[in-house]
Amino acid sequence: MAPETAVTRIPEPADETEVMREQLEYLIDHAAQEVQCGCSECQRYLRVRSILLEIFGEPQRPQVKEIPLARAA
Ligand SMILES: [Zn+2]
Repeated sequence: MAPETAVTRIPEPADETEVMREQLEYLIDHAAQEVQCGCSECQRYLRVRSILLEIFGEPQRPQVKEIPLARAA
């Protein structure tokens, strides 16, 4: 335990990116074992996966015009 690190912890964007990458790789690696243990890591992976797939595989939204018209007022 090093209390100094907690105090002098400076958030660096590069570190955060690195951490995210490591987390992602960890989750992917965990889920790649084809063992649906259903632990918190598995659920985190599914969450992250759905989010990423939503970003990258977002279907072209039909531009539905659902603008609420306030003409009645
Ligand atoms: Zn798991």
